[in-house]
Amino acid sequence: MNANKLELAKRLSVIKPSATLEITATAKAMRAKGIDVIGFGAGEPDFDTPENIKQAAVQALNNGFTKYTVASGTDELKQAVAEKLRRENGLAYEPGDIVISCGAKHSLYNIMCALLNEGDEVIIPAPFWVSYPDQVLLVGGVPVPLETDERHGFDLDPEALRAKITPRTKMLILNSPCNPSGAGYPPRTLEAIAKIAVEEDIWVVSDEIYEHIVYDGFKHVSIASFGPEIRSRTILVNGVSKTYSMTGWRIGYAAGPRHVAKAMGMLQGQVTSNPTSFAQSAAVEALRGPQDAVRTMVAEFAKRRDVIVSSLNEIPGFRCFNPVGAFYVFPNCSELFGRSWNGKKLTTSLEVSAFLLEAVKVAVVPGAPFGAEGFLRLSYATSMKNIVEGVKRIRQAVTMLQ
Ligand code: PMP
Ligand code: GLU
Repeated sequence: MNANKLELAKRLSVIKPSATLEITATAKAMRAKGIDVIGFGAGEPDFDTPENIKQAAVQALNNGFTKYTVASGTDELKQAVAEKLRRENGLAYEPGDIVISCGAKHSLYNIMCALLNEGDEVIIPAPFWVSYPDQVLLVGGVPVPLETDERHGFDLDPEALRAKITPRTKMLILNSPCNPSGAGYPPRTLEAIAKIAVEEDIWVVSDEIYEHIVYDGFKHVSIASFGPEIRSRTILVNGVSKTYSMTGWRIGYAAGPRHVAKAMGMLQGQVTSNPTSFAQSAAVEALRGPQDAVRTMVAEFAKRRDVIVSSLNEIPGFRCFNPVGAFYVFPNCSELFGRSWNGKKLTTSLEVSAFLLEAVKVAVVPGAPFGAEGFLRLSYATSMKNIVEGVKRIRQAVTMLQ
């Protein structure tokens, strides 16, 4: 047996397991063993998919819509996405500028494959969603984190962005509202970023998956809407997972310049073929059907956010930014560093999250994989009962520290 020949491909050695999926799986496994874990891991709405959307899939199945579709998605769904982008974002895209994929995560990976060459630098404002750097690394790119400051609401400083740009910079990834911080960029920040992207001639990948999960009157604006020059450099990414509680259906999409959409469609034709046919029919109903279920879910998230933010801020050693979007809180827990449990000193967010899981059976995601050591991420896409109990346990855990 030749060990070298049977080794895994080198490209996998540069990535690590998704921390968000890992912690969720750990909590699930503990629960299966009968352990009473409170899970703040999964970034997944806890509501059922609205009935009208499920019925659209049932109808598609009953109508025999169970075969391959065009690899880049059905015309009907592309048309529904184009209508959505026009109606909600004021953006004119044709179906030919749109590619439907198996979730926004898949859209993002296709974009990296389609646009990045070996050694290309990609600026990623931190804290960032865990999968961005690893997707960049998988295709041979170089992730370049751009730190943002909690005390400035995690807003992006345009001058700091400019300072990160080198001749190798090819792309900037934006995520507003942001997973994990819950921050949302104000229009003036987006306008300044757009100006720089146009001047420097770089791509902007705009992940807008949390656009509808917003609070306190925050209004999401797409960077692509700041004029034709930035629009021609933007690939907009969105999907139905979060807004319509459809995480398991795996439908996301990208919209951008025609030649990029075409390249992504070609890639899909060789790699995955179409996203599931009847899930596409359900997504059409999600985008075109009644939107009241979205309002109901967001109203419930808003109540949970108020409770989790205020109760975490009451725990000594925690400082929690009040998010304007998504369903995560990202408290700073660095004041706990240096304190000990069972004689073991806590020095990293990973150690704090392991301590919370072991001591009080609360699952949170450490900040480090989001590019922000000293923080923890808690998803409040869980019941109010779990939120109250989970935060109570965290408070109790902190009293155990010496
Ligand atoms: N972007 C961000 C910021 C996310 O949090 C997620 C959640 N998994 C995704 C993209 C991907 O979503 P999906 O693949 O379920 O559409
Ligand atoms: N986006 C969610 C999260 O961050 C789901 C898990 C994932 O795909 O990363 O928790």
